[in-house]
Amino acid sequence: MEQYDVVVIGAGAAGMFCAAQAGQGGCKVLLLDNGKKLGRKILMSGGGRCNFTNMHTEPAAYLSENPHFCKSALARYTQWDFIDLVNRYGIAWHEKTLGQLFCDDSAQQIVSLLEQECQKGKVTFRLRSEISAVEKTEQGYAIQVNGQEVSTRSLVVASGGLSMPGLGASPFGYRLAEQFGLKVLPTRAGLVPFTLHKPLLEHLQTLSGVSVPAVMTAADGTVFRESILFTHRGLSGPAVLQLSSYWQPGEFVSVNLLPNLDLSAFLNQQRQDHPNQSLKNTLSLHLPKRLVECLQTLGQLPEVTLKQLNVPQQAALIEQLQNWQVQPNGTEGYRTAEVTLGGVDTRALSSKTMGANAVPGLYFIGEVVDVTGWLGGYNFQWAWSSAWACAQDLINQ
Ligand code: FAD
Repeated sequence: MEQYDVVVIGAGAAGMFCAAQAGQGGCKVLLLDNGKKLGRKILMSGGGRCNFTNMHTEPAAYLSENPHFCKSALARYTQWDFIDLVNRYGIAWHEKTLGQLFCDDSAQQIVSLLEQECQKGKVTFRLRSEISAVEKTEQGYAIQVNGQEVSTRSLVVASGGLSMPGLGASPFGYRLAEQFGLKVLPTRAGLVPFTLHKPLLEHLQTLSGVSVPAVMTAADGTVFRESILFTHRGLSGPAVLQLSSYWQPGEFVSVNLLPNLDLSAFLNQQRQDHPNQSLKNTLSLHLPKRLVECLQTLGQLPEVTLKQLNVPQQAALIEQLQNWQVQPNGTEGYRTAEVTLGGVDTRALSSKTMGANAVPGLYFIGEVVDVTGWLGGYNFQWAWSSAWACAQDLINQ
C-alpha cells in the first residue's frame, strides 16, 4: 500500500500551494484531483490573467459566520508574501483598479509557478482521481482512489466550492466534513449576476452591454462603488457581483446611477442656462443615451423640457436615478458564480492550522471553508493564506 505523510485532495489554488509548502518542508505529499488539468479555475480567472491577490487585503473584505476566523492566516501569509513569490518567478504584473493585481501575460504563469513550487517539494500529482471512500485508521487515513488504497498520516481537503460545476466543482469536501462530524453551513452562489423579473427585464434587455459607474447598497447597508453592466439576463458588473454576496432572496437593492453628481444642483443650473432643453437630452450629458431612453419607456422620466419639470417631478426623478430600488428575481446560480458562500463551519476548525479540532490530522483549506472574499483577488489570497497556515502545521507534525 502506498504511504504518504500528507494527501491533499484538490489541485486548485489552495491545494497546490499547500502541497508545495508541505513538500518543501520535508513531507512526502500526494496531490489528487478529479480533473485532467491542474489549477483549472486559476486558468479561467481574471479573464485569463488571474487576479492573484489584492493589495488592500484585510479581514473586512471577507464574509463568514465568524468574521474573526480569517484574521490569523491572512496576517501570517500576507498579500506581500505572495507578491514576493510572484516577483521571484519574474512574473510581470499590474494593478488594474482598487488594489487588484493581475498577471501582465497569462494566468498560466501562476499555475506554472505552483507546479514548479510543487516540484521543489517533490510532490506526487495524480489527476483524474476518483475518490470512492475515506476512512480513519490508527495511523491516519485510508483513501480509496481509482480502486487502490492510499494511506496517509494527514489529510487536507482543498476541493473548493460548488461554483462552476463544469470546472470540476463538487460537494466532496462538504460530504467529507459531515462524515467526520463537522458542521457544514448552508451554501449559496456568491459573486454572481442578478436575474430580474420579466416586465423589468424586457425593458432593460435593450440595454444589454451598457455599463455605467454606480453605487449599490444592499438591504443590510453594505455599499459598493464600482460599475454595473446590463445584460440580456439582468444585471452584472463588479458592483452587482460584490453585492450579490450580501443579498438574500426577496430583498431590494438600491442603485445610484449618478454617484458622482449633485443632480439637484445640475438640473437647476441647466434649467437656468437652457430652459427649453429636454430632460432626456440633459440627462444624456451624464448617462448613456440608451439608458435614458430606456428609463423613459419605463415611465421613470417625464417627457418634458427643463422649464416644464416641476418640483415634485424633479424630486421623484432624483429618487429614481440616485436611489433606484431593484428587486432581483434571483441570481444566475452556481453555473456562473465565482464563489460559494457558506461551507465548512469555522467553529469546527483551528484558525491557526485549519485543522479540525475534534479530528486529528484532518484539515480544510480554501473555498470549501466558510470564508468568502470580495471580488478582486481576495479569494485567491485566502487560498494562499489558509494553505500556508495548514502547511506549517503539517511540517511540524
Ligand atoms: P478550487 O480552485 O475550486 O480547486 C478545487 C479543486 O478540487 C478543483 O481542481 C477540483 O477539480 C477539485 N475537486 C473537486 N471535487 C473533487 C473530488 N471529488 N475529487 C478530487 N478533486 C476534486 N478569485 C480571485 O481571487 N481572483 C480571480 O481573478 C478570480 N477569478 C475567478 C474566475 C472564475 C471564472 C471563477 C469560477 C472563480 C474565480 N475566482 C477568483 C475565485 C477563485 O477561483 C476561487 O476562490 C479559488 O479557486 C478557490 O481555490 P480552492 O483551491 O479552494 O478551490
